[in-house]
Amino acid sequence: MNFYMSLRRKFFFSHFFAILLISGSVGVYFYTSAMNNLMSQLRASLMKSAAMVSVMVDARSLDEITTRKDVELPAYQDCLRKLRALRKTNRDIAYLYIMRREGERVFFVVDSDDSTNQALPGREYEKKPKELLEGFVRPSADKKITTDEWGSFLSGYAPLKNGGGKYLVGLDMRSDEVRFKMRQIRLAAVIPFVGSLFLALVFSRILSDRQTTPIQMLISRCRSIAAGRLDEKVDIRTNDEFDGLIQAFNIMSERLAESREHNRNYQRSLEQIKNELEIRVQERTSELNELNNQLVQEIDVRKKAENSLAEAARTDSLTGIFNRRAIWEQLEYHIVLFRRYQTPFTLLMCDLDHFKPVNDTYGHDIGDIVLVKTAEKLRESCRNQDFVSRWGGEEFLILLPNTDIQGGAIAAEKIRQKISEQPFEINDQKLVITVSIGIAAYVEGLSIDDCIKQADSAMYQAKREGRNRVAVSSD
Ligand code: GH3
Ligand code: MG
Ligand code: MG
Repeated sequence: MNFYMSLRRKFFFSHFFAILLISGSVGVYFYTSAMNNLMSQLRASLMKSAAMVSVMVDARSLDEITTRKDVELPAYQDCLRKLRALRKTNRDIAYLYIMRREGERVFFVVDSDDSTNQALPGREYEKKPKELLEGFVRPSADKKITTDEWGSFLSGYAPLKNGGGKYLVGLDMRSDEVRFKMRQIRLAAVIPFVGSLFLALVFSRILSDRQTTPIQMLISRCRSIAAGRLDEKVDIRTNDEFDGLIQAFNIMSERLAESREHNRNYQRSLEQIKNELEIRVQERTSELNELNNQLVQEIDVRKKAENSLAEAARTDSLTGIFNRRAIWEQLEYHIVLFRRYQTPFTLLMCDLDHFKPVNDTYGHDIGDIVLVKTAEKLRESCRNQDFVSRWGGEEFLILLPNTDIQGGAIAAEKIRQKISEQPFEINDQKLVITVSIGIAAYVEGLSIDDCIKQADSAMYQAKREGRNRVAVSSD
């Protein structure tokens, strides 16, 4: 179990008990010596009084007094009177008496007591302290209060003149008196004791406060530092080791404050650098974004240019339909398809009949217009997947994918009819143009050239047979 006790309380109790121990020891010493002194004085006074009385009574006259019947003897009466007279001279004395010693036994001879309890001659006294027996030889006194049937007393003794060690005179001082004197001493001792107790309390309090005040201040400072208040200082001088601790603490506090200020400045500059960096990054990012946009636009323009270049490379500039290169690529592709899937395709070679005279009659520009319009008609006559190209001059090569020779013949006939039956309107004149078409279906093992040659041969065959007709390749 942890028992907590504040330093202030510990200091208080340690000082209090230390002061109390010292003042208590001193008090006890003085009290004891005062009591001893009192007892010594009382005993000395009793012995002195007993000695004084002892010379006033001659022991030789007492030998005849032995029993209670001897009270009538003149010697007894004389002695009793003397004792009673002497007793009245000192108010402290309660009783005066004379005793005889017979061996180890002690008997009363004369007792000054005038009450009914008076000890008559021959009465044995049982309670004999050591000092009483000593009193038969030399003056002595009780060391402590003795209580017997007559009360409590402090007694003094002295051997009687001419007693030969057989008689003594005893003298009782009332215990009330002794106790009263002792009480006075005790009272005299209690007042300083209470005073020292009070002073011990006050001094312990002051000393413990003095020792714990700097600690309390340091604790409160530590709490202030923990709460972030670094500029406060402990301003107290104790002229002991605490001065060193307080000084070290104040220096530490100062260093902490400096360090915090330094950190704040450092953080401020870091913040500034971060902000500047963010601005620069933003600027650079927007620059890069702008560059990126420009680049994307440029790439777009280039792609478009490339696309239009690629388009142009595959397009006939006069008619807008595919050129030789484009249909050549398609033929390569369809031969691959044929080899893998046996997908058939057919070629139509179309040549305008007697076109030279058109040029000659209407001029080359009109001839160009006729070529453009012919290309349009060819496109209109074909399916979307058919590939219409200008092979050269007034010759057009058409690729019909997924089409066998019969299908090719039907398509060719349709084209022939559309061109021959729809005359061209040139300068408000109707110009009838016809076309001769040669058909060749692709057969396994043929090259592109061979296949085109077959279509070309068929076309020449159609020319030979009278033009404006369709001829199928005999190969
Ligand atoms: P056929 O084919 O019926 O035997 O007679 P043709 O007059 O068409 O024969 P030829 O092949 O000798 O003549 C073709 C003519 O086509 C020659 C040329 O003047 C004309 N021609 C070729 N290319 C163009 C062109 O791009 N524009 C124009 N206007 N005429 C062209
Ligand atoms: Mg020709
Ligand atoms: Mg021709």
